[in-house]
Parts: sequence; structure tokens; C-alpha cells
Amino acid sequence: MDLSSIGEFGLIDRLKKRIFRPDRRVVVGIGDDAAVLRQSSEKLLLLTTDVLVERVHFDRRIQSYRQIGWRAMVASVSDVAAMGGEPGHALVSICLPADITVEQTEEVYDGLHSVAEEYGFSIVGGDTVSSPRDLVISVFLTGEVREENLMTRAAAQTEDLICVTGQLGGAQAGLVMLQSLKDKEKTPASAFPENEWQQVRDRHLWPRPRLREAQLLAREAGVHAMIDVSDGLAGEVGHIARQSGVGAEIWEQEIPVGQQTRRLAEHLGISPLDLALHGGEDFELVFTMAADQRRRILQAVTEETGTSIAVVGKVTAAQEGINIVSSQGDRIPLVAEGYRHF
Ligand code: ADP
Ligand code: MG
Repeated sequence: MDLSSIGEFGLIDRLKKRIFRPDRRVVVGIGDDAAVLRQSSEKLLLLTTDVLVERVHFDRRIQSYRQIGWRAMVASVSDVAAMGGEPGHALVSICLPADITVEQTEEVYDGLHSVAEEYGFSIVGGDTVSSPRDLVISVFLTGEVREENLMTRAAAQTEDLICVTGQLGGAQAGLVMLQSLKDKEKTPASAFPENEWQQVRDRHLWPRPRLREAQLLAREAGVHAMIDVSDGLAGEVGHIARQSGVGAEIWEQEIPVGQQTRRLAEHLGISPLDLALHGGEDFELVFTMAADQRRRILQAVTEETGTSIAVVGKVTAAQEGINIVSSQGDRIPLVAEGYRHF
């Protein structure tokens, strides 16, 4: 069977069934941002791993080695954050192509290490092997969370509001622009003044996980389900809906897309809505919360962190499916079109 006939998530589902065995210490197995294991009566252990492959996840012609390391580690911290946890310890495995130097490898580690320093954890091991051609970095990160603060994708309730931290689409807009600048044939991109897209460029090059925001949200009883945005709003809302057994309605005009992203999208001829729905790696949080707690929860997080939160939709009954309501009021089924590996 071709991998493309079932896709990444179809494959994961099949593997999950093949390797399943009941284990009372496993609170959440395959299927969320991190696995959750019972540590003690009040603390749970989180495990997450992400692998970044050259030419699939990054491009050495666009990103510096330090930026590649930074982003590899951010992806894992963001997953621990999305579970409501605190990062623990990291293992980093790296597959090095013959053309990479010691200095370049050290720069990758400087990037990895700066995330660890900033978010207060250590890299304690890993593995180093050669690679025939591409650079591959795999990060494994542990975390911990008090049981009452654990956030999963599976706890959304009908009538919850669906919220997003910060803004969406910037990371993808920045990437498209960086790619188009690298490709000298496409001259229109270079005509766009650099200071007008610096913020979105940095959304791609220096993404930041929403650890503090996630931890504050996890302490609020009214917050129910949470996931980080690694593959666009549509896909993440789909994961929450499927795993919670609910439907969802997203309001197009409420989706937070920044001014720089909008202007850059216009310049590049891409729809800002598509960037937000299907663009990757914004590392924002999508969560659902009880509607009557709205004011208090949003105020608590924004006051403490300065991060804005947008209410972008609501959780509906499962049979209503997942829809987007356009600015004109049309209801259109929302299909995830994030990155397709297969
Ligand atoms: P994220 O984007 O949050 O990192 P993924 O979509 O990569 O999440 O993974 C979803 C779930 O599937 C996670 O629980 C992850 O651990 C699991 N998973 C992904 N690939 C595999 C695999 N090859 N074997 C076992 N579990 C996997
Ligand atoms: Mg995730």
C-alpha cells in the first residue's frame, strides 16, 4: 500500500492499533501533543518527540544553523506547553551529512541550548550518526504536569468557545517570502521593503512557544481542551473535534491575522485566510473554554502575559461537523490542508 493513500495521520492510526497494549501507567498514549505517564499520585510525566529533516522541514539556504536548532527545540517545548506542562529534560539525536563542519554543528546546538536556557531545562543526552545527504535533528523532551492541570485534545465540550493565542499565518507567510527571495527568478518578492515583513520573517525563523500562556490556561478550570498550532488552525480544530467527539464552527472574520501578514500575503498573492487555516508552525495555542468564563480567563492571561487571545468560534454537536462561517455568513465545511508528508 502507498503511504500517500492513507497519509501521515492514517499511518499513525494504523501503527497505534498494531502496537497497542493496555498499560495502567499510560494516561494518554499515541494521539495527543505528548504521551502522559503516571509518575506519582499528583504528578504526571509527559513525553514528546519531533524530528526535523532537511528539505522537508528546513532549508540550509534559508535558515542559519542556529535557527534550525532553535526551531527543532521549540516544536517540542510547544507540545509540552499544549499539555499544560513544564519542560523536563531533552535528548537530541542528530544525523550529520559529510559537508557539515564542527562549527556549524555547534551552532545547531547553540540554537537548541538557547531554547533550553530560556525555558529552564537541560539537554542531557542524544545520539550522533552520519547521514548520506541531509541533516536530520530529532528532539525528545520530557515534561511534567500536575494531574489537575493536564490539558488534552479530547476534553472539548459542546457550546465551548474556541480560542487562539496571538496571531496566525505569520510563520507561513515569512517562509513563502524567504523562499521566494532565495529563488532569484521571482523578482516581485524583493520589491517588498524588508522592515515591513521583519516580524513575519521572525515568526518563521525564531518561533516562540506559548509556555507561560499554556500554564496559566491549564490552571483555569473553565479551559477544557488544548493543542498547539503546528499545522494550521483547520487541522488543529479538526484534531480537537475528532478526539473530543464534537463538531466545531469557526468564524472567519474573528481569525487573528496580523497587519504585516496581511500585507505580505497580498504582495505574494496568497489568501491570508489560507495562511491562518493551513499554514504551519505558528506555535500558537488553540483551546476551548466554557463560554461563561470568557471574560475572566481572557483577562487573566492577557494581563499576566500581554498576549492577546481571539475567540474564533464555538464547539458544536458532532453531527454538525466542522465548518467555517464566512464574512458573508455562508457555512462551508472546513477541510484541513496542512503539510502533506505522503
Ligand atoms: P504534534 O504535531 O503535536 O507533534 P503529531 O501529529 O506529530 O503531533 O503526532 C500525533 C500523535 O501521534 C502523537 O501522540 C505522537 O506521539 C504519535 N505518533 C506520531 N508518529 C508516530 C509513530 N511513528 N509511532 C508512534 N506514534 C506516533
Ligand atoms: Mg503538537
